[in-house]
Amino acid sequence: MKVAIIGAGIVGVTSAYELARDGHAVTVFERHSAVAEECSFAHAGIIAPGYITPLAAPGMPTKILQHLFSHHTPVRIGLPLSGAELTWLWQWLRACKLPAYQSNRSHLVRLAAYSRERLHGIVKQHEFDYERSDGHLVLLRSDKERKAVAPSLQFLRETGVLFKELDAAAARVVEPALCADTPLQSAIHLPHDEAGNCRQFALLLRAEAQKLGAKFEFDTAVDWPTAQNPRLLRLNRFAHGMLQPAALPTQHSSTPSASAPIEQFDTVVLCAGVGSAALLQSLGVQLPLAAVYGYSLSANLREPMDAPRSAIMDERYQVTITRLGHRVRVAGGTELGGRANQKRKASIQTLYKVLQDWFPGAAQHSNVQEWKGARPALPDGSPIIGESGLPGLLLNVGHGSNGWALACGSARVLADSLAKRATDIDMQGFDLSRLKLKTA
Ligand SMILES: Cc1cc2nc3c(=O)[nH]c(=O)nc-3n(C[C@H](O)[C@H](O)[C@H](O)COP(=O)(O)OP(=O)(O)OC[C@H]3O[C@@H](n4cnc5c(N)ncnc54)[C@H](O)[C@@H]3O)c2cc1C
Repeated sequence: MKVAIIGAGIVGVTSAYELARDGHAVTVFERHSAVAEECSFAHAGIIAPGYITPLAAPGMPTKILQHLFSHHTPVRIGLPLSGAELTWLWQWLRACKLPAYQSNRSHLVRLAAYSRERLHGIVKQHEFDYERSDGHLVLLRSDKERKAVAPSLQFLRETGVLFKELDAAAARVVEPALCADTPLQSAIHLPHDEAGNCRQFALLLRAEAQKLGAKFEFDTAVDWPTAQNPRLLRLNRFAHGMLQPAALPTQHSSTPSASAPIEQFDTVVLCAGVGSAALLQSLGVQLPLAAVYGYSLSANLREPMDAPRSAIMDERYQVTITRLGHRVRVAGGTELGGRANQKRKASIQTLYKVLQDWFPGAAQHSNVQEWKGARPALPDGSPIIGESGLPGLLLNVGHGSNGWALACGSARVLADSLAKRATDIDMQGFDLSRLKLKTA
């Protein structure tokens, strides 16, 4: 089958690999000059199938209100919100109710566990080296945080996820460089979680997909020349590396540019991250997909002995610190509203603060890469994988805070659905129909 994939983030690249493996003639279209240039570029890199949780969780609305005016806060709302963001917020509030949260979380855990299995299979087969490390330590600064994670620990017990509750001394044995001056009440250690450089993995997997025959067309932003046929793509090419975000075709235009070629495919798979909503809108589908922003710092190590061995999560600030080879990455912030190209100073400062609290000697403070990414988030936190309701168009979108942890599994089940094969896991909770969308 002749298949087009829109978007070469981690979700698009894994999809290309699995579809090419199944023998399809795959072409990936990406508006940037390389893979993983947007949300898959510099995120935390953590794969924590047990600890995975939707953003919509009981207690989150109160947390947001409590932290509204704090300087160092894990969640922010950038006012004013657009009409679409307000609708998203309303749907998100409903998904915060306990029964919805419980079922969404169990769907995510199921897919994440499967995805890790697929990831390990790929890594073993191709012997990838992508700065991976084992283990994930959740730091609890006070009794308040310890009590707050109790329901999560209960969930881990029920789902059979291996973890250990550690006192501060034992946590410092797992991560010996943790600063002794910062009060630590206790920690949760998840030895089977892991971290790795998602972008590096995407670059390696792209090469494997190419060996299987997949083509990558970079500097090409696609859209639909007609709202009637999703199999027909218009290819708007940029000069190499000259992408101007303002020039991106985000809306359906009834006046195709004269020079843009149009190509027909048997199947089109949409993996365009936050860009997916605008593309679908041009086909008459209103997907409630919001950009939920986050930030990261990436710095070279100053002294490896003073750096984390693997992944750390500061539960109070919801900031992660990850060892990625010779670098350390600090990531966090959950922000609805605001703009992709405007970094909020306070959010960046929180990352520096948490790094300083736990690993003050780890990083070189010159040439720190400060990054802002947009998580493609649906209100209930689960992605949509499979049918779009339109002939010839499949979706692999909305992986929110967990795209790296879910990508390999999502790609495999997508390929199985296209082949009309039974999927290895139950796909309940990943269908578009759960969102009860109105179409134009
Ligand atoms: C601060 C932060 C920390 C995070 N930490 C983690 C973590 O520890 N673990 C985890 O699992 N996840 C994490 N995430 C989430 C993860 O980054 C995302 O879920 C994931 O990167 C989404 O991948 P994607 O391929 O769907 O989107 P993207 O990586 O954004 O890829 C979409 C691609 O589509 C392209 N595109 C869009 N429109 C078009 C068009 N019209 N034509 C051509 N190309 C187009 C874009 O250019 C882009 O390259 C984090 C996110 C943030 C912001």
